[in-house]
Amino acid sequence: MTDSRNLDPQVHIKSPGALFVGGQWVKSSGGGVLEVISPVSEQVLMRFPDATTADMDRAVAAAREAFDHGPWPRMSAQERGQALLKVSELLLARMPELANAWTCQVGAPIGLTKYAAMQAPQLFEYYGKLIQQTTLVEERRRDNGGLVRVCKEPVGVVAAITPWNAPLVLLCYKVAAALAAGCTVVAKPSPETPMDAYLVAECIEAAGLPPGVFNVLPAGREVGDYLIRHPGIDKISFTGSTAAGKHIAAVAAQRLTRTSFELGGKSAAILLEDADLGVAFKSLVPYSMPITGQVCFSLTRVLVPRSRQQEILDAYVAAIRGIKIGDPFEADTGMGPLAMARQLERVQGYIAKGQAEGATLVLGGGRPKQFSKGFFIEPTVFSDVETTMTIAQEEIFGPVVSFITYDDVDDAVRKANSTVYGLHGAVYTQDAERGYAVARRVRSGSVTVNGLVVDIKMPFGGFKQSGQGREGGIEGLDPYFELKTIHFA
Ligand code: NAD
Repeated sequence: MTDSRNLDPQVHIKSPGALFVGGQWVKSSGGGVLEVISPVSEQVLMRFPDATTADMDRAVAAAREAFDHGPWPRMSAQERGQALLKVSELLLARMPELANAWTCQVGAPIGLTKYAAMQAPQLFEYYGKLIQQTTLVEERRRDNGGLVRVCKEPVGVVAAITPWNAPLVLLCYKVAAALAAGCTVVAKPSPETPMDAYLVAECIEAAGLPPGVFNVLPAGREVGDYLIRHPGIDKISFTGSTAAGKHIAAVAAQRLTRTSFELGGKSAAILLEDADLGVAFKSLVPYSMPITGQVCFSLTRVLVPRSRQQEILDAYVAAIRGIKIGDPFEADTGMGPLAMARQLERVQGYIAKGQAEGATLVLGGGRPKQFSKGFFIEPTVFSDVETTMTIAQEEIFGPVVSFITYDDVDDAVRKANSTVYGLHGAVYTQDAERGYAVARRVRSGSVTVNGLVVDIKMPFGGFKQSGQGREGGIEGLDPYFELKTIHFA
């Protein structure tokens, strides 16, 4: 592996030693340092300040001031929308860096990040246009003819907390929608992957948004916990694990802080008896283990009819064997390393558990021999998996796929619905309407018939313990509003 971008990712961050607070790049009040480690070289790529609770106080105060007294929430929707379109243009101009940042921090293949990072400017463009078309004041009449104005007002100061796996896009879902609505934002990116939030901050600064409207403070769980308890925060928009989401929900309940949650998943791909494998594998192969399986909507459970179980398993394993594992900066790499050492430990633990509980290891299970360093793991496939097994119930967040056999469609639906999660899913069949009928029975926030589609202009989110609320689409804007009803007596 020779590509030097795993040592120098060519991401040019103006002030990596500072925090973005109140429109300025400021020093942290503490001396803590966060190191971004390359999952390939295991070398430090960049250092950032580890924000303190005092820094959070300063950022919340700046966001509060910008919301309570600043121009942003009071601007017309047209003005805010135009400002977001400018941010979109600036992000677009930095595309290669945005893709590099994702690849160097997470190990996601550059072939994927090059187009997936496009969602960042697309989100700012989408919400920049949508807010200009949104009716913010609607006139209605009471039964007695009295006039009522139902007004959408921004919810206030938003804490945007994001994970490390898709740090750019997950942040932009929140920030573009929140800013469009007129909110101000304190963003706490994951301590392992702060680069993207800095690039977004630079674009927001360059677009001339008022000071305090957007603030960035990378920090870990403890300082994040301080942020969610902060009385200056009106809404928490959280993407991350279900465990952390439940904790945050409990904390938020104390003050009835508004919340949105995008949490874990254990999505099922149901192949009906008539599934065309040529069609199915176009999405099932890449999206059962995207970004080394570290994507919330990965199709990690493959449900196959008993009559075709061996045929489908053999074909799938052959296809997975064809994926090139290696340097994520090489164009033909299909799978890079896991993002960090603790991920490697976690995934190895689940593989051991799968074997201990009696699943059959069909492919992988170990570390690829050709790499002397880096958090690489082999793509791993288990068959004979029962729905009660840990590997069929818990989110592994690694390239580990479970094959589960079903007897008939009712059994397939029951098995698809047999976890606490309900984020995504897929149904493969040659009869699209039959696929739709099965999709309607799957308890998850989205399902794709014969593919895997996530579209920023459509709602995305979870049933059950996969989340609350939706991001993307019109529905992704609504959670950043409060409704105010003004009656004329
Ligand atoms: P995590 O829950 O450990 O951390 C997510 C973020 O929350 C990080 O910034 C972390 O510092 C912060 N955090 C953790 N505990 C906190 C607390 N008590 N108070 C405030 N902040 C806190 O998750 P992770 O390991 O970073 O990410 C992986 C998880 O994210 C997986 O479960 C994955 O499914 C989920 N995810 C969901 C979606 C979705 O859209 N549904 C998208 C991507 C990732």
